[in-house]
Amino acid sequence: MDTTMPSKTVPTFDVLVVGSGASGGWASKRLAEAGLKVALLEAGRPQSDSNFSEHKPAFALKYRNMAPEVLRKTRPIQSKFEVCNEYTADWFVNDFDEPYSTPADKPFNWMGRLRMTGGRTNVWGRVSLRFSDADFKAASLDGYGEDWPLGYDDLAPYYDLVEKYVGITGMREGLAHLPDGQFQPPMPLTCQETVFRDALRTKLGRVATLTRSANLTRPINGRGPCHYCGPCERGCVTHSYFNSAFTTVADAVASGNCTLISNAMVYKVLMDAENNRARGVLYIDRESRQPREVLARVVILCAQSQESVRILLNSATPQYPNGLANSSGGLGHYLTAHVRSGGGSGEFPGLVRKHTLGGPVKPVGIYVPRFRNLRGAPPHKKFLRGFGYECESSTDFNWSAPGFGAAYKKALREPQASLEVTGFGEVLPRWDNFVELDAAKKDIYGIPVIKIHMSDGENERAMIQDMGDSAGEMLEAAGAKNIRTYANPSAPRWALHEAGMARMGADAKKSVLTQFQQTHDVKNLYVMDASGFTSNPCQNPTLTIMALCVRSCDFLMDELKRSA
Ligand SMILES: Cc1cc2nc3c(=O)[nH]c(=O)nc-3n(C[C@H](O)[C@H](O)[C@H](O)COP(=O)(O)OP(=O)(O)OC[C@H]3O[C@@H](n4cnc5c(N)ncnc54)[C@H](O)[C@@H]3O)c2cc1C
Ligand code: SF4
Repeated sequence: MDTTMPSKTVPTFDVLVVGSGASGGWASKRLAEAGLKVALLEAGRPQSDSNFSEHKPAFALKYRNMAPEVLRKTRPIQSKFEVCNEYTADWFVNDFDEPYSTPADKPFNWMGRLRMTGGRTNVWGRVSLRFSDADFKAASLDGYGEDWPLGYDDLAPYYDLVEKYVGITGMREGLAHLPDGQFQPPMPLTCQETVFRDALRTKLGRVATLTRSANLTRPINGRGPCHYCGPCERGCVTHSYFNSAFTTVADAVASGNCTLISNAMVYKVLMDAENNRARGVLYIDRESRQPREVLARVVILCAQSQESVRILLNSATPQYPNGLANSSGGLGHYLTAHVRSGGGSGEFPGLVRKHTLGGPVKPVGIYVPRFRNLRGAPPHKKFLRGFGYECESSTDFNWSAPGFGAAYKKALREPQASLEVTGFGEVLPRWDNFVELDAAKKDIYGIPVIKIHMSDGENERAMIQDMGDSAGEMLEAAGAKNIRTYANPSAPRWALHEAGMARMGADAKKSVLTQFQQTHDVKNLYVMDASGFTSNPCQNPTLTIMALCVRSCDFLMDELKRSA
């Protein structure tokens, strides 16, 4: 495609937001409701309740959701994670149309690439945890890397604001390193979760709490409370989990100030070189494959970390030959993504009497907050930082019962109460984990793709081992039987919580963004997804992505007022 050809120009907006997921939804809502004219460009299709299938049985599907080989024909990477299944596959990118590359010795599964309004929030796990100063100021505590250019007190009011709107079920625990939030009433714990929580507290002095999760237990803003049907990743007609498509984006559009432009695959930011200002973006209409321009006073990238960085790298100009806003040289570097290949499982015989198919399914489990390398405790000898555990309990038929015939049928009906604990560990930001443009490869829209270079270091390897060992210790303390633990090398590398690559920092020579996610180099260009994370603590990132985004939007509006 020739991007120098004349392209159709649509009217100028105040602000242009790229991406309608967790961050883009909030940016659009905050700015449009304040009266700014917003264009929201989304590469994917519009989402609607008619696409949701949480109540559809597998037998109503063509392949009964049992033919992964069919999915692999178009989505071999996306379908590696179970949320890309026969119900949802066409919400995800076609891996052949929109490829990426990796070095042969560093495979990376870039999954969770959505192409629908709402982005990853359509299928996310909804775990919503605050960061604390143990995270924002971690470098000062242990000497590794850089502190964030903001602290917990700066973000706390925005956590409050976001939580009250999103609706998060949770229990207050009073932990300094996992601050409490504005919770809706907690969902109840299962028997094995209660046993585990009590045992951790009394025997190990650790906490296990209801996973703080964006599922409603009380109605808000016309959204109904959860009715425990289970598969939130297929959508929710009662809007009981948080998905940008039917919350923030819907509010932005309802304000009358936001124009959602779907199927708009943004290629690059357009620059006014003379004044060193962004003037809009060039995008490819995915249906017509034609280039289009949209112009605005301010450009905000919210396309998910790797995608936003790809846009900046593709926006290189003679003034910024190594990528737009990259005078520091740091753009693309310090890619981080959680390790989660250590954990365990155990059974709790006697805790269930009878199991039935089709009963209520609680969509959240329990969470064990980080307990390693906290202030006031002796540091771990082998690694820095820490990990938490997401724990899922299930009560199920004994599907793996041995034998045949009547004996098998009897054993099958023996109910099993089990708990699986999976570690989520912080990965240290390192220069040599990075993305760059792959000069030899383009997607079907003619846009150069990225090459991802990522591998684990010594710190991650030691942490994964402790995730497995500590999982075993905790399950044992809770009296579980048939305990199995694992601590696997995390290769091929993968994650759904990628961050970094356009880090925030006070020093423009060492960072790409200010603490308000404004690029140091181009004052009307912002990146409000997780690209700006200075480090990637073990807590799931999205609550912090959203709180930071709202804070940065408020700064942006002050800037616009100042310059009016
Ligand atoms: C299966 C799964 C489970 C997860 N579980 C959790 C969890 O429990 N807790 C948690 O905190 N986080 C979780 N996450 C991560 C969470 O979903 C992301 O952190 C969050 O959605 C990121 O928000 P974002 O705005 O950066 O990007 P997204 O929400 O991904 O939205 C980006 C949007 O930008 C669009 N886009 C991309 N490129 C372009 C382009 N060039 N032009 C125009 N539009 C573009 C995409 O189509 C997409 O709609 C999970 C993710 C997945 C996939
Ligand atoms: S479990 Fe709750 S939030 Fe999830 S799809 Fe069902 S009703 Fe919606």
